[in-house]
Amino acid sequence: MSKININLKDGNISKDKKDVIIGIDLGTTNSLVAYINDGEAFPVKDEQGIHALVPSIVHFTEDGNILVGEEAKKMLNVAPERSIYSVKRLMGKSYTDLKKDSDLLGYKVIESEKEELVKISIDDRFYSPVELSAEILKYLKSRIEKELKKEVSKAVITVPAYFNDTQRQATRDAGKLAGLDVLRIVNEPTAASLAYGIGISKEESKTVAIYDLGGGTFDISILEIDNGIFEVLSTHGDTYLGGDDFDRNIIDFWVNNKAVDPVRLQEDKRYGQTVRMNAEHAKITLSSEPFFSINLEGSELSIDTETYEKISSPLIQKTLEACRMAMKDAELETHEIDHVIMVGGSTRMPIVRNAVSTFFSKEVDISLNPDEVVAIGAAIQADILAGNRKDLLLLDITPLSLGIETVGGLMDNIISRNSKIPSRQARNYTTSIDGQKNLKVSVFQGERDMVADNRKLGEFILSGIPPMPAGIPKIQVKFNLDADGILTVEALEERSGVTAQIEIRSQYGISEEDMGRMLLSSIQHAQSDKEKRSLIEAQTEANAIHLATIKFISQNENFLSPEEKEQLNILNKNIRDKIDSGTKDEIHTAMEELNAYSAPLAHKALDQHIGKALGGTKIE
Ligand code: ADP
Ligand code: MG
Repeated sequence: MSKININLKDGNISKDKKDVIIGIDLGTTNSLVAYINDGEAFPVKDEQGIHALVPSIVHFTEDGNILVGEEAKKMLNVAPERSIYSVKRLMGKSYTDLKKDSDLLGYKVIESEKEELVKISIDDRFYSPVELSAEILKYLKSRIEKELKKEVSKAVITVPAYFNDTQRQATRDAGKLAGLDVLRIVNEPTAASLAYGIGISKEESKTVAIYDLGGGTFDISILEIDNGIFEVLSTHGDTYLGGDDFDRNIIDFWVNNKAVDPVRLQEDKRYGQTVRMNAEHAKITLSSEPFFSINLEGSELSIDTETYEKISSPLIQKTLEACRMAMKDAELETHEIDHVIMVGGSTRMPIVRNAVSTFFSKEVDISLNPDEVVAIGAAIQADILAGNRKDLLLLDITPLSLGIETVGGLMDNIISRNSKIPSRQARNYTTSIDGQKNLKVSVFQGERDMVADNRKLGEFILSGIPPMPAGIPKIQVKFNLDADGILTVEALEERSGVTAQIEIRSQYGISEEDMGRMLLSSIQHAQSDKEKRSLIEAQTEANAIHLATIKFISQNENFLSPEEKEQLNILNKNIRDKIDSGTKDEIHTAMEELNAYSAPLAHKALDQHIGKALGGTKIE
């Protein structure tokens, strides 16, 4: 189906040209945005048309303005406490997570013992990493809007493969805050593979190693790509190892050679920054020339390739050690790797390329710009989502949880949000009423605790369960989400073998807006949902005890004294009342009171029954 657009200004009818969806690499050191036009990838450059990379730095000026990128980088040595870098390291982190990191940052992370998410203080304001990342994203958004001369609102953003749910959610939130509808969060190694065209054709089956050495971090990921599905087999790395460490080594070398004054390096910020810039310049020069030399205030800062390689070798060995561990975790031998992809500006160093190539006994892929591949891959994923590559359906994770309704209208997640696709999960249930013949299975999608707040996908009835006491039937509910996003739900009563199932195709028929709304409301209602859930769980448990007590009294009519019966009835009536109108704690108290009274009676009754049963049996 194609949409028809009527231009309100001139009344012309035009075929709808699909919205461009942008790809964003939100990096620790550098970020960039790219898009696809007619199948070709374009990383967006600055106004001079030179740099695509935007330093991931946000600076707050004294008079309340916000600078991002190169402008902010210039302020790094002038006012470090107002210049925030490496904010990606803080995404989705709580104060307790951060104990070790905060010493290494030049700005102020608020001190707290709490489990809350971190904030950064500048003047009297507190900024969350989400807000700071949103500033970088806003900058990228406006850069591409200038280039395309139109508004963009949809984006794919990449994250490291090891990012957990909270960190991914924080990235999504940052996008939202920047006015972007984040259609997908994609793993950086997945994006890099896509940029190299691996996994584009559905039939393909490949094992790929992605070696990503950036400015401050190192990641190695082993992916298995099969049928358009990207599976992360293993990931390793070092969140404090990157290009900056190579720069630092060069500075140390100059200090040892008395070319740089170590005291001044510490005390004179401007001088320190100049030396650092020269060290990075030296490193980059040595990637293509044999020698670097510059005169700084009368002393010669120089270094040759041989020396540089010698001082860099321990850092490279560290990355190879991580590669070894990743291969071990993936249970693979190096000859089983089909491609080795180099990502990150630091992989421009010939020594890095050579070492990695030797490690995997294979030529490494370097044909694409290593600091642009992730953004290019994100743009390709965006292009696929925009529907411009018809033959392709790339599903990697479920955007929302899938589950069924259980007693009291509670949502029981079977496949949780962000699970890999395809996915199969099963869980066992039972009946709640004696002799129950039918079981209704209602399937829902969403993050809220009560199904009423989620989206219903369908329902079916498992009928023909043979009459059994409550709790005896073993009903397995299986969810099977296939690579095309089709969900099949099957229920099986294991004792009798009766089954029923349903196929749901509308799994992805949910707009991003709705999805965002659903996620947001689940966060807003988390506390009240939790309370509601525990109340309903208490009510359900109490109800089972209530029914069991009625059964117990009637079965032990002759054994119980009238006083005991009376007391049991009083306590049991109290449970009923509390189920109807009590709080969770009142229900628990009522259950405990009944339990304390009935437990000894139940034991006595049991002894009596056993005694009777043995009465007629002669031993010997
Ligand atoms: P991140 O993914 O952490 O945001 P990048 O992939 O942009 O980082 O990598 C930035 C790092 O790459 C910096 O340390 C920079 O010095 C380094 N780098 C860029 N070009 C070269 C080069 N030609 N040789 C060596 N290092 C380089
Ligand atoms: Mg990167």
